[in-house]
Amino acid sequence: MICASPAISSDPAAIAALAARIIDGGAATPEELRALLDVAPNTPAAEALFAGAQRIREHFHGNRLKACSVINVKAGNCSEDCGFCAQSADSTNDGYRRTKWLPDEEILRAAQSSAEHGAEAVSLVAAWRGVKEGPQLAMVTEAIRRFAANGRVRPDVNLGILESQRCADEIAKAGARVYGHNLETAASYFQRICSTHSWEERMRTIHYIKRAGMGLCCGGIFGMGESKEQRVEFLQQIAFVAPDMVPLNFLNPLPGTRFAHIPKLDPDEALITLAVARFALPDRNLMAAGGKEAVLGERVTEIFKTGINCIMVGNYLTTCGADPALWRAAAARYGLRYPGDEL
Ligand code: SF4
Repeated sequence: MICASPAISSDPAAIAALAARIIDGGAATPEELRALLDVAPNTPAAEALFAGAQRIREHFHGNRLKACSVINVKAGNCSEDCGFCAQSADSTNDGYRRTKWLPDEEILRAAQSSAEHGAEAVSLVAAWRGVKEGPQLAMVTEAIRRFAANGRVRPDVNLGILESQRCADEIAKAGARVYGHNLETAASYFQRICSTHSWEERMRTIHYIKRAGMGLCCGGIFGMGESKEQRVEFLQQIAFVAPDMVPLNFLNPLPGTRFAHIPKLDPDEALITLAVARFALPDRNLMAAGGKEAVLGERVTEIFKTGINCIMVGNYLTTCGADPALWRAAAARYGLRYPGDEL
C-alpha cells in the first residue's frame, strides 16, 4: 500500500528540491509521487510542480517536441470488451466509420497528411484482439512492407496481442520500427476495464516486442475510475517496462461505451497527473495523446507546462483531434520547438 507523504504536497520548496534530486540522477519514491497527486490547483505548490516538471523535461529532453500520429487501418467490431473503447465488442457507439483493413492508397494519403503536420512516425492501428501466425501474420507483414516503402514517416504499428515471438520477429523484419502496446492501467485495476484478455497477456506481448528488437510505445489512460494509488502503481509499472515512448491518454467517456457514465477528469487534476508522470518517468518520452481536447477543453495547450515532450497530432482512432496549427503556435509560447520549426 502506498501512503502519501503529506508535507510535500503543499511545500513548493520540497517539490523544487525533489525536481533537483531527479535531475541529479535520483528518483521520486512512490510515497512522494502519491503526495504530488494531491497538490492543490492554483497554489504555489502547483506552480512548483509545473516548474519542476518543465525543468526535468528540459534537462533530459531539451526543448524539441516530437510529434506522432495514428491511422485506424481496421476500425470497429473488435472481439475484446475494453470498457473505454468505442470499437469494443459491446460498444454501441456509431460515431465513426467501421472498416476492414484500408487500401494502401488511403493509408498513404493519411500518412502524407500526418508528415505535413510534423509527425515523425505514423502508427497503423487495428481494432482486433491481436495477430496470430498464419494468413493474418502474412497479411499484416505484407501491408507493413508496402507502408514502410513510403519513406516519408517512420512506420510504426499497434496490432494488439501477439500470439508468439515469431509474430513479433516477422513484424520487425517487415519494417515496423516501433510497436505500440499499452498497459492501459495498473495491474490491480485491469480486470475492471477488460475481461476478454489479461494484463499478463499484454506484458507477454511487450516481452516479445522487446526481444524482436522493436522500439516500445507503451502507456495508458487516466480517469477510468482508478485510485490515485493505482495511478502511482501504473507509473511504476511503466517505469519497469521502460518504453521508448509513453502515450498518456485521458478517458473520453463516449456514448455507447461501458465507461460512458464515468465523469471526465477535472482539467486541473489531469494537468497535475501529467506533471507527476514527468517526475515518475524523467528520462522517458512522454506523449500527450488521446482525450486531451475532450478533458482540457479551452485549456488544452496548457499540456506544454506539464513536462511532456511529445504530442499526438491529427485524429484519434474514433474521434477528431485539434488543428495541428494550434499545437505549433502554443509550443512556441512555452519555449518549445515544434518539429520542423526554429525558435
Ligand atoms: S482497446 Fe483495442 S483490444 Fe480493446 S476493444 Fe478497443 S480495439 Fe479492441
